[in-house]
Amino acid sequence: MNRVYNFSAGPSMLPMQVLESAQKDLIDYQGCGMSVMEMSHRSPEYDVIIKDAESLLRKVMSIPDNYKVLFLQGGASTQFAAVPLNLMNKNGKADYVVTGQFSKKAYKEAQKYGDVKLVASSEDKNNTYIPKLTKDDFRPDADYVHICFNNTIYGTKWNYIPDTGDIPLVADMSSCILSEPVDVTKFGLIYAGAQKNMAPAGLTVVIVREDLIGNAKDITPAMLDYKLMADGESMYNTPPCWCIYIAKLVYEWLLSIGGLEGMKKVNVEKADILYNYLDNQNYYIAPVIPECRSMMNVTFVTGDAELDKKFAKEAGAKGFKNVKGHRSVGGMRASIYNAMPTEGVLALVEFMKEFAKNNPKG
Ligand SMILES: *Cc1c(COP(=O)(O)O)cnc(C)c1O
Repeated sequence: MNRVYNFSAGPSMLPMQVLESAQKDLIDYQGCGMSVMEMSHRSPEYDVIIKDAESLLRKVMSIPDNYKVLFLQGGASTQFAAVPLNLMNKNGKADYVVTGQFSKKAYKEAQKYGDVKLVASSEDKNNTYIPKLTKDDFRPDADYVHICFNNTIYGTKWNYIPDTGDIPLVADMSSCILSEPVDVTKFGLIYAGAQKNMAPAGLTVVIVREDLIGNAKDITPAMLDYKLMADGESMYNTPPCWCIYIAKLVYEWLLSIGGLEGMKKVNVEKADILYNYLDNQNYYIAPVIPECRSMMNVTFVTGDAELDKKFAKEAGAKGFKNVKGHRSVGGMRASIYNAMPTEGVLALVEFMKEFAKNNPKG
């Protein structure tokens, strides 16, 4: 067997222990004679899996009892509509901050459902920073404020939680959830597609404060209504059974390595290795301003599109897969999610040094 270092932004690496555990139970899940993929979601065996998944996630993220945890489908992109449909229900107003492509999509989608204001954007500097906002930047009668906490494509991260006063803060955490502890009580709603840092593609997790649900707009499709999903305990219809099972194994793995505090230590170490290298050479350029650097998605360029292309190709041939930047921004991006081992990052830096030496710039 030859596993590569997969720097994909998503779907991305899963912890080896999780894959091995799933493999061991694949054909005959704990003696029940079938795989989790074949099980009825209403069976007693599956009931244990989904309930364990929820309680483990609550434990890992310290989610208070007054928050619902929903295991849904449709990806983070479906939440771009579900959030306004469910939450833009008092004054019909919402404030959005655009710091990259996903938050821009969320902002555009929300415009279909009400009065949406762009309160700040980092597009003026190609999304290489996060705007500094205070309570006064938001409309006091907005039903919620929406941000994307980690910008997967540009490699930026909010290094502070904006103070929105009493206005619920909604955050897309698709590419940073479970990477470090986060104070859930500072948010009204957190959502994340699972395929970056949690499970295979097909699962979306929504963590929402109870008092915010139950007032969805009349036009809300049943499948997007948080109240229906919460009342059905994520089983209003068939949930993404297999993905939830893998997520459960990921939560167990996280607890086994010291929870999110333990995870953060490793993630800081990995990101430091890459950024320290980038800061102490002059071949590659890291465009993001240092205070806003993502711990999960590290972006860099050579400054020469041809060399960037060559880099991605040669890296791939050496087992460093998917280091090409997003098609819209070019350059390189190393996504170093939870499951990327420190050795992978160290090996990538060695490759970067070698590439710089072998490909002097004109
Ligand atoms: C990947 C990603 C999305 C889109 O997720 P889908 O599950 O593909 O809809 C949205 N937001 C962020 C921050 C992402 O990283």
